[in-house]
Amino acid sequence: MRNKPIFKIVAVLAVLLFLFFIVFSALQRKPNSKQKSSNQTAKKRIKAPKFSSDSAYAYIQKQVDFGPRNPNSASAEACGNWLESKLEGFGANIITQEDNVTAYDGTVLRMKNIIAEFQPEKKKRIMLYAHWDTRPFADKDTVRINEPIDGANDGGSGVGVLLEISRMLSKNPTDYGVDIILFDSEDYGRPTYASGSNYKDWCLGSQYWANKPHKKNYNAKYGILLDMVGGENAAFPREGTSLEYASNVVDKIWKSANSLGYGGLFERAKTNPTTDDHLFVNAAGIPSAAIVEFHVHQMGGYGKFHHTHQDNMENISKETLQAVGDVVMDVIYNE
Ligand SMILES: [Zn+2]
Repeated sequence: MRNKPIFKIVAVLAVLLFLFFIVFSALQRKPNSKQKSSNQTAKKRIKAPKFSSDSAYAYIQKQVDFGPRNPNSASAEACGNWLESKLEGFGANIITQEDNVTAYDGTVLRMKNIIAEFQPEKKKRIMLYAHWDTRPFADKDTVRINEPIDGANDGGSGVGVLLEISRMLSKNPTDYGVDIILFDSEDYGRPTYASGSNYKDWCLGSQYWANKPHKKNYNAKYGILLDMVGGENAAFPREGTSLEYASNVVDKIWKSANSLGYGGLFERAKTNPTTDDHLFVNAAGIPSAAIVEFHVHQMGGYGKFHHTHQDNMENISKETLQAVGDVVMDVIYNE
């Protein structure tokens, strides 16, 4: 009879010990596994080579110094040749697409798309692009509305950032081959005061490319479009067309921006779908996201400089260029 309570006590103790062991080992495991996984992700990400906003700024200045780069102008021709030789100097294989395209008003434009292939032997590719032409008029201005604009931000900035990235690519190869594409004749769309606007008035160079890529059966895992990426007080919300076609690419870019501390500039807010070169590249089957200045709470959305003579070097910010350059570099060097 005296054995019974002792047996009970032993049994209870055994159960308690067993429970204690389970709880203890679970507690031990939890922080360890967390630590391990965060270490693994931290280890996985590569620190990209340092992007220089001074250098990107100088490339924008150089373009602006040629004068407005509206199609058919002598300054466009000179700048186009300079871009080609600059990219060639960075060791890229250059392919150009030169042809006539017809603008909304029947004007025949001499178009030149410039494609720079880095590590062309690689099958897996990423495409980075911008337009290099500038608007032939300042239809949103109140003065000199028929004169072409400097296009420091709208045209110059995307190209400036891509030239600086090209300089980095020439010294530091990526796992993926990278194609830098500078599209022509993006900004020849019908003026805002004219009626009968059609989205196909815009992006004539990328439309041409979408119909006839620089290589047969060309493919890339994804594309990133840079347009108006150097403005003072810029904002880069998530753009609607990009979300529609390539939300995973948007996630990739905005995640990287957050991790680099640029979450204030790369906003969570969304825009409506907009027409830009990425619309036609997406339709051609390469999922693409745009980084483009837009102010969701402002009339018209695009910055005040947009399609006016204020789109000049005074509006160019090295801080904005640095942020965009850092983010794109982080994305491509971690692919
Ligand atoms: Zn524009």
